[in-house]
Amino acid sequence: MSPQIKKSPEVHPVIVIGSGASGGMAAWNLTRQGVDVVMLDAGDRFDRAEFWTHVTPWEARERRARGERPPRFFLDVEEQPYETPPERPFELTRVWGVGGKTNVWGRVSLRYAQLDFKSADRDGWEIPWPISYDDIAPYYDRVEELIGVCGGDDDSDSLPGSRFLQPPPAPRCGERLLARAAESLGMPVVAGRRANMTRPTRGFPPCHYCGKCGDGCDSASFFNSADHLIPFALETGRLELRTNAVAARILTDDRGLASGVQYFDRHSGEEHVVHGRTVVVGASCVDSTRLLLNSRSDRHPGGLGNGSDVIGRYLCEQIRFHVRGWLPQLYGTPTRNDRGIGGAHIYMPRFNHRDPHRRDYLRGFGMQFWYTGCNPDGAATGSHTIPGFGASLKREIKRRHPAWFEVHPYGEVLPYAHNRITVDESKTDRYGVPLARIDYRIGENERKMAEHMADSAEELVKAAGGELVDYRRGELAAAGSAIHEHGTCRMGDDPKRSALDAFNRMHEVKNVRVVDGSAFATASEKNPTLTILALSWRATDHLVEELRRGDA
Ligand SMILES: Cc1cc2nc3c(=O)[nH]c(=O)nc-3n(C[C@H](O)[C@H](O)[C@H](O)COP(=O)(O)OP(=O)(O)OC[C@H]3O[C@@H](n4cnc5c(N)ncnc54)[C@H](O)[C@@H]3O)c2cc1C
Ligand code: SF4
Repeated sequence: MSPQIKKSPEVHPVIVIGSGASGGMAAWNLTRQGVDVVMLDAGDRFDRAEFWTHVTPWEARERRARGERPPRFFLDVEEQPYETPPERPFELTRVWGVGGKTNVWGRVSLRYAQLDFKSADRDGWEIPWPISYDDIAPYYDRVEELIGVCGGDDDSDSLPGSRFLQPPPAPRCGERLLARAAESLGMPVVAGRRANMTRPTRGFPPCHYCGKCGDGCDSASFFNSADHLIPFALETGRLELRTNAVAARILTDDRGLASGVQYFDRHSGEEHVVHGRTVVVGASCVDSTRLLLNSRSDRHPGGLGNGSDVIGRYLCEQIRFHVRGWLPQLYGTPTRNDRGIGGAHIYMPRFNHRDPHRRDYLRGFGMQFWYTGCNPDGAATGSHTIPGFGASLKREIKRRHPAWFEVHPYGEVLPYAHNRITVDESKTDRYGVPLARIDYRIGENERKMAEHMADSAEELVKAAGGELVDYRRGELAAAGSAIHEHGTCRMGDDPKRSALDAFNRMHEVKNVRVVDGSAFATASEKNPTLTILALSWRATDHLVEELRRGDA
């Protein structure tokens, strides 16, 4: 009998968990700088041939009736449940698959301002970010140049300008009317900033304005990690992508440092372990937080790196509501092809911190205008409210089609310690891993802000001569529906009040970095992905420096 040779497990330099905005950026930036990466992603690749980008609404109806289905981007809650108190639901949207939520994201790409990074310094609410705008600005430049963001030449204290934006599409008629009305009220309106390429970029063709980005993009003309980051990382030969690999726990050694990741095959349920010297976590805020809290050990009884008990707390996002209706000046005008870049071509940056708009609450709000104009997704929403039937109804729908508008204010929710993700040992998923429980509610500050948001939106609609449809003042969109979860593994200078340092590295576990929205100290009123990408790039540049010095 031949002697048995015990083989030590392979130890990879870096394990990245998640392939969306944060994980994709981490893998792209590490591999191009010569670092070998193993990436675990809970889902599969989405098949581009199955996208329904150019399927019209009426064709979609027929194809569904024939039993055809577009790719199922969104994770089914039956497969991966989460818990909430019955009286406080939270609408969690997850995409498990290569590229994560960037397959279908809205692409609004806004730089955070010094106003956002220093908000806690000004008003004293919770902790400030450990970085300032100047620290991240060079990374915003690089990200915008890499991914292709279109926008205008505006620059303000609430939305810093950029030299790297591609030409914006022209505003639609309804958007022009809203912009003019806003100007008359002293509310700023600028060109929308979106990660839709309006010029050829890095070999990708520009957007051809089909307006169907929510179904994925056939030509990869908007930024999506699956097209713009992962293939380039794979091309280096330094990325090993393991799909359908559901990370459950980060394993630690006797020093309390990360030594690997336990994961399960999504379909077979088979358990695996991958060993690594550094772990970069980018599974999106809620899943990353669940993973960290489930990674308990004697050294980390409250979850990995959670001696401060901040992990899971301070969940924050934005309050929103939707204001919709008709702009009668546009009734009977010719129907145009307003599909554009699949979202608003204008944006209203925050202005409530300026005179004469100030009021008695903290932080602020901005407004988006998606679905304004002649596009099949917009006016269809209001057609059911038009009285009549038969040919005259059809004529009236056509007459009003160019006149549809939408206003969507987004306001910052403060970080509160009680807004919390926990894990429940008694409730587990199909792999025996404890589920996340989300307990979230807004407070008095948000209610005051919502009043101001409603006053501003109503003033705007009135000044534009708009007629509201199905508007109920005070009715906020469901908690979680902004799909911008943040704050549950926040950065900060003080290890007693934060989990990560200024480079997204855990204070207590130096070989773990968390690079998604959970790292944010505040939510701001803005969409987060541009900032997630910039922070992940910055954090992994720092990791590369450590690796070169031999410190990681
Ligand atoms: C419809 C929609 C519209 C949006 N619009 C905008 C917008 O206009 N602007 C904006 O800034 N943001 C927008 N967002 C949010 C944006 O998509 C996210 O901020 C961004 O994708 C977050 O990046 P992430 O890497 O944290 O998460 P994701 O991109 O979701 O990636 C997470 C990855 O982790 C993987 N994963 C999860 N759990 C595990 C696990 N246990 N093990 C292994 N892998 C795991 C997933 O498979 C996924 O690939 C929108 C989102 C949606 C759904
Ligand atoms: S509008 Fe542009 S970016 Fe969106 S799906 Fe169509 S081509 Fe792609």
